Amino acid sequence: MSQTDCLFCRIVAGDIPADIIYESDRVVAFRDINPQAPTHVLIIPRAHVSTINDMTEDHSPDFAALFLAARLIAQSEGIADDGYRVVMNCNAGAGQSVFHVHLHLLGGRRMTWPPG
Ligand code: AMP
Repeated sequence: MSQTDCLFCRIVAGDIPADIIYESDRVVAFRDINPQAPTHVLIIPRAHVSTINDMTEDHSPDFAALFLAARLIAQSEGIADDGYRVVMNCNAGAGQSVFHVHLHLLGGRRMTWPPG
């Protein structure tokens, strides 16, 4: 997939609007358009990686940055102490629908386990 075809690359580029709440040199975070919890934020690397299966050693700093951003955003959203969930779906069988890796940050309600 070329970057012009990728929805999340286009959000990073500013071609498609999004409710961006956090940016760093490596990641961008914005509110999910179809939230599944009171707080539902997507955190994505600026650099395109389609799925976890495509991750290499070179991507390690980006993936670390996703989790560091999750920690900061959970604090700023006020959900860090009560608890929150981070999820990354890999491929269609796990529910991935946008093929640019993204960490879901969900909180603000009681989470159940196992996930559906
Ligand atoms: P996944 O199913 O794990 O690939 O997650 C993709 C997520 O992207 C879903 O939760 C969608 O609601 C969300 N989404 C799709 N398009 C947009 C958009 N334009 N802005 C914000 N979130 C989006």
